[in-house]
Formats: sequence, structure tokens, C-alpha cells
Amino acid sequence: MANVILKASSIITMDPTNPRAEAVAFDDATGKILAVGTVAQCQAASPGTAVTDLGTTVLMPGFIEAHSHPMLGGMITQPPSYWIAPYMGYPNISDVHALWTKVNAELPPDQPVVFQGLDRLLQQASMPTNTDLDAFFPTRRAVVLDNSGHMAYFNSAVIAFNKWADGKPPPNPPGAHFGRNPDGTSNGIAYETAALLEAALPTVKDAVPHPLESAAKWLQYMAGFGITATSEMTYSTNMLKGYEALTTRPDSPVRMSLYHMAIDSDAGVQVDSPDPAMLRKQGVKLWADGSPWVGSIASSFPYLDTPAVQHAEIPLGPGGTAMMNYTRVELDALLAKYAPMGWQMSFHVNGDVGLDIVLDAYEEALVNNNLMGTDHRWRVEHCGGCRGDQFERAVAMGVTISLGPFQYIYWGDLLDGTMFEPAIGSQWMRWGDAVRAGAHLSFHNDGPVSPPIPLLNIQTAITRTTDTGQVHGANQIISIEDALKAETIGAAYMLHRDDEIGSLAVGKYADLVELSMDPYLAEPLKLATQVKVQGTWRSGRKIDLDAYMQQIQAVEAAATHPVDHAAPIIAHKC
Ligand SMILES: [Zn+2]
Repeated sequence: MANVILKASSIITMDPTNPRAEAVAFDDATGKILAVGTVAQCQAASPGTAVTDLGTTVLMPGFIEAHSHPMLGGMITQPPSYWIAPYMGYPNISDVHALWTKVNAELPPDQPVVFQGLDRLLQQASMPTNTDLDAFFPTRRAVVLDNSGHMAYFNSAVIAFNKWADGKPPPNPPGAHFGRNPDGTSNGIAYETAALLEAALPTVKDAVPHPLESAAKWLQYMAGFGITATSEMTYSTNMLKGYEALTTRPDSPVRMSLYHMAIDSDAGVQVDSPDPAMLRKQGVKLWADGSPWVGSIASSFPYLDTPAVQHAEIPLGPGGTAMMNYTRVELDALLAKYAPMGWQMSFHVNGDVGLDIVLDAYEEALVNNNLMGTDHRWRVEHCGGCRGDQFERAVAMGVTISLGPFQYIYWGDLLDGTMFEPAIGSQWMRWGDAVRAGAHLSFHNDGPVSPPIPLLNIQTAITRTTDTGQVHGANQIISIEDALKAETIGAAYMLHRDDEIGSLAVGKYADLVELSMDPYLAEPLKLATQVKVQGTWRSGRKIDLDAYMQQIQAVEAAATHPVDHAAPIIAHKC
């Protein structure tokens, strides 16, 4: 082991006390930074260490995706599963149908299949029932996961396989429900996490024989976009062995913070991590409301009665409190259970009514547990339909905000005037208001809901352009400095890791992303294509993603049963 000094054409440190440097020195035994500054300063901090000149490369802190679902994300988007989201090459439902026909013709007859990313709005599809799916998959089990992550569609073979008596789903789990025909039988639809897992996971298990490899593919995918740290927002205890394997390989590319699903009875348990710098449990997560793409957000405003909304079978609403997955009393009870344990709370919420209720519940729990004014950093996630004044209230309470530019990138054109009134739709995902409110802000791509591309989030935040190049709500544009913070130090702050990662400073981990050029010098509208990710370093080690996959395959091969490491994940029952 030897120290390393990297010289680059420029180093963007994200440290306001030392924003730019030409070299960084680190101890690759500890993975910690020894110096950031001139080459001479680095050599003084590490005498005798050779300087590795990266030429025109620009270095930054590794990007941090503060809200992801790597385990499930890998299983349902990476081969052998199919990622059918509109922006993954299937713009219309006819493209999806063509794939279904092809897949059913090509695969061995009994092989089950999983498709992630059906989007009824963007692909202009109605809700597929089991009968609709039977037309494409008459005998094999087929699961289609809605792009929102809040619904699943499955065929009759799945219903039969689940051994639901008379084809009738079990009672609705908490915070979720099953679609039922008038006679009580399943219509092949499940709503919200607990029901989705109950209906679909047994088939996902059989369709994905190497889930650990699938999860590793997702982490490779994230690292390919420059990410060196992330979170698992649907953590369950039976994922622990899998995550221990994924994060403790020599070339493990991504640090992991775990947020336990509040629907689990053991959501409050501590995690004894083999390497807390790579894997740790940070908090407890729940879904206060649903998704804008399926009409289940707790909002004060209605959807517009347009052909696109009608075709997607979205209720016009406004959803209001009826779309809350929990009553205020239930939220208070969950907070009363987990707040005293010291867990960071994370609530998914998209609607403005939902955020008011979440902040009311947070405020009371923070006061009741003497946490108001402390460094709690409780989180709110997505907040697509939330307002700037609500962000100001959140900031005043010490609540941190994680926004998903992807909602604007891919649905922005529909949001403004097709889904909602322009006054609402054009302002969707108000990152400008969040910055003006002084929020500790992070950006995310939400696991398998959209590809994890920090540079595209940054391009979008500074130009407010959708994937078609249109602009809606230019008043939400922010500076590149603020956009970069949301993918680095702002995200680290939200994960309670800003003392270790998120900027390049002495004593922090040498987590770096190599860029082909300086994002400050790129054309804003072309930033995500002009600036290329050339590689990442984690703890001062240049990550070899191919070697990582071999290391994971060795783990699976060593396991007594191929999916031993991952089996508990699959067997999860909410
Ligand atoms: Zn999520």
C-alpha cells in the first residue's frame, strides 16, 4: 500500500473554503485524503509519493444518489428482467406489446418474466388486467411493474402460482390493497408496496435466478454515471446478507445507507455492519401518499380532464387526504415508535396536502421527543407537487428535502397543461424554491424509476429543459454550484455523511469521479453529453467494475445454494 497523489487539469472540491485545486493526496490504506491543493502541498503532505498526472481529466467528489432502491432496482431492470420504461427505448405501448410478443415466442415455455416501467401516461396505456396480459402470456408467469413503483400488473398464471384460494387475493395489507373483480377474484393488479411484494415477488424470485448479480449490475450502472454513495430506501432485514456481500468486495463501487421500511415489524432494529464506512443503517422510511403517474397523490389540486389523463385511467381528484396511505393517528404512532430510537425519518410525499400533514406530524414528533433544533435532518422525498412556502416551513424545522428532477425531465411536458393547470404543472418539482428557502437539498433518480444520471439532473436544474428540450417554469432554474451541491455535499448532508464524503477535504474519504471536462465550461443544454464520466475512485481505490462483478460472482459461487445470499430478499413478506 502506498499513498497516491493525483494531478488533474482542475479539481472541483465542493469545499467553499478551498473550491479549486490542482492535486489531491490520499492514503489508499485508510482511503482518507491527506491534502488538497497544489502539487507541492500534496508532496509536502506525502513526501516521496509519485504524482499521477491525469492530464485533461477534471476531478470532483463522487456523486451521491441520496434516494435509490439498488436491490430491487437491479432485479427488475437488469437482465434477465426487461426495462420497458418510455425513456429506455419503449416510447409507446405498441413498442411494449411488440416486446411481449417477441419475448413470449423466444423464451422457454415455463420461464417466468419480469418487466419494469410500464407508464400509462407517457406510453398512453390503460391499466392491464390479468386477462389483458394473458393474451400475450397465456401460460408463463408474467409480472409487469408500473413505472411509478406503486403498482404491479400480473397474469392469471401468477394468480394461480400464488395459490390464492379461488383466485381471490388475501386481505389488504397495511398501506396497500389488491384490485378485485365484483366476484372478489383478483383482476391482476396490486397497489402500493406491501401488496405489490405479496403478489409479484414470488415470480420475481423465479424469474431472477441471480439476484445478487442483478443488484451488483445496478451498482455498476450507478458507478458508470459517477456515483460513489447511495441509499436503499426499501431496506428489509432479509437484505442484510446481500448488502454485506455487495459493499465489502475490494472493488465495491458504492457506499450504502439503509432506510428500513416502516411496514416491517422490526424496522427499528440496529444493523451491526461489518464495515460501517461502506454499509450502515441510517433511518426508517414510509410512503405517506402515492405517485403522480397513477393519480394517488394527496393534493389540493385536480388533474385536468384531458384525453391523456382519461386514457391512463387516472382519477381526476383532487386526491386530498383520501390518497394518504396512513391517517395522522397512524403517522403519529409510527413516529412515536421510531423517533425515540434516534432513527432519521424519511417520508415519501408528492402532494401538497400530503406534505402539510407530514410536516404537522414531524413537528409534533420533533417537539415531543425534544428533537426540534437538533441535528435530526429528517427527510421528505420527491415533493413533486409541493410548494415553496412548504419548503420554507420544512427548512425552519430542520427537515431536509430530496427532489427528483426525473419527474420533470420525462413528464414535464405532460405536467404543464395536460396533467395539471399550468400554474401547478409548469412549477412541478420546485428546486429553485427549495434553494431560495435555504434547503439542504439533494437530487435523486429513485432506483428503478429512472436511470441514475447525476449530470442530466444537473443539466436540467440549470436549464429547466425536459427531455424534448421544452422549458416550463424557468423561474425554477438554479446555479450550477447549487446543482452540483445537490449531487454531492447536499446529498451527503442528508445521509448524515457530510463529515466523510461529498467534498474533497483533508480527513474525508477519497471518493472521486473523473470527468472528461469541467462542467462549469460545458454548454448548459449539452452538459450531460459533453461531460463524460471516465471512472470513479472509492476510498482512494480506482474502481474496476468488471473485477467487481467477478468478485460478486465468486460470492454467489461460494454460497451453498446459488441464491443463498439473496434468497432472504426474495422471500420477503411485508
Ligand atoms: Zn423511492
